[in-house]
Amino acid sequence: MKFELPRLLYAVEALAPAIGKETVEFHYGKHFLTYINNLNGLIQGTKFEHSDLETIVRESDGAIFNNAGQVWNHDIYFRTLSPFPKPEPSGKLLEAIKKSFGSFSDFKEEFSRSALSLFGSGWTWLYKKDDGTLAISQEQNAGNPIHSRMGTPLIGCDVWEHSYYLDYRNKRVDYIANYWKILDWKAIEDIFVK
Ligand code: MN
Repeated sequence: MKFELPRLLYAVEALAPAIGKETVEFHYGKHFLTYINNLNGLIQGTKFEHSDLETIVRESDGAIFNNAGQVWNHDIYFRTLSPFPKPEPSGKLLEAIKKSFGSFSDFKEEFSRSALSLFGSGWTWLYKKDDGTLAISQEQNAGNPIHSRMGTPLIGCDVWEHSYYLDYRNKRVDYIANYWKILDWKAIEDIFVK
């Protein structure tokens, strides 16, 4: 299966000032594309040559996983950002957040703390467990809740330096504060109800 760069749902400059044009050009147009090209090259002649992406993410390791994980992760990352985001969750997703974290603001605080405290490169996730409750996890490098078999990812916040360094230099805390402003709860609700 040959993987392709998914279409960006907004213009490269549309997320500014939260995430600037140059960051999107490099992060989407170069980093994400490189993971896709690497993956297409690495799976040739392996048992994953004709697998779908989720199967590869779940079952591979080493270099194939590193690239497959990053392809999956960047797809959800860019898909859940928007220049016109739904600013807060509602309905069943809001109920699940309240049940699992107390309130929406308690959830945001815990998620922000997780994203800020992750050492090195990786992702903070909100995911749905098999019992329907929600949880937050930190994963190093390309890790995600599919690979670690913890549940269904709903939000993936990229805290690799390439996602914020051009805009915020070393200030990850400011990146996270602004990430909330472009996170589209409509897109997340669509994943949640699937
Ligand atoms: Mn990234």
